[in-house]
Amino acid sequence: MSANGDETERSASVIVVGGGPAGLSAALFAAKNGLETTVFDTDETWMHKAHLFNYLGIGSVGGTEFMATARQQVDDLGADRHQGEEVTSVEERGDGFVVETDADSYEADYVILATGANRDLAEELGCAFTEEGVVDVDVDMETSVEGVYATGAMVRPEEWQAAIAVGDGAAAALNVLSTEKGEYYHDFDVPDDAARVFGEHVAE
Ligand SMILES: Cc1cc2nc3c(=O)[nH]c(=O)nc-3n(C[C@H](O)[C@H](O)[C@H](O)COP(=O)(O)OP(=O)(O)OC[C@H]3O[C@@H](n4cnc5c(N)ncnc54)[C@H](O)[C@@H]3O)c2cc1C
Repeated sequence: MSANGDETERSASVIVVGGGPAGLSAALFAAKNGLETTVFDTDETWMHKAHLFNYLGIGSVGGTEFMATARQQVDDLGADRHQGEEVTSVEERGDGFVVETDADSYEADYVILATGANRDLAEELGCAFTEEGVVDVDVDMETSVEGVYATGAMVRPEEWQAAIAVGDGAAAALNVLSTEKGEYYHDFDVPDDAARVFGEHVAE
């Protein structure tokens, strides 16, 4: 059950590799909308070096503080976050993927890569790259390998901003949801949803 109260018809599984702004945004949308969502992160996000003055809607926040709030949010919405567990390989197998980490082996229907400027896993998976040497994706962030998405710094030679990474992650997860539903999927909430989910804690 998602925070929206919606059930997906089939609980597809998504593995998100990387828990910076791109990966956690993908995890938020996926988990909130009923997909079985696992995140692996080695905590080397650039956000630990940043202080945001340019993230719309947020006046000023330290990067580490921003990440702490984001992590709490995805945990609350049901993502299974494996902090400190490194993904060492991703392989296609059957209709899905096998993801090896330094601790275990996992299977998923979809993989969302969000490893910052490190593009090694995308290269090993055989994803197409642009002439500029970044992972080639469409506006839905899907790579040339069906079911594999790339988001955030790995898909741009520059223009590295948290707000852009967060948008990429959302686009990837929504595209997975649209694929699963067989029609375009929107994650729209209205005030009554907030009241139902958060009750008296809803801000005025
Ligand atoms: C000094 C500095 C200041 C900045 N200031 C701003 C600013 O003011 N405003 C702004 O919008 N942006 C700023 N940025 C940029 C912003 O931090 C990035 O755009 C953003 O962090 C990119 O997000 P991402 O999710 O793509 O990658 P990242 O944040 O780099 O996250 C990638 C995550 O994936 C993990 N990872 C990588 N490989 C694996 C693996 N194999 N297995 C598991 N986990 C893995 C990493 O450990 C990391 O936690 C700044 C960056 C720097 C360096």
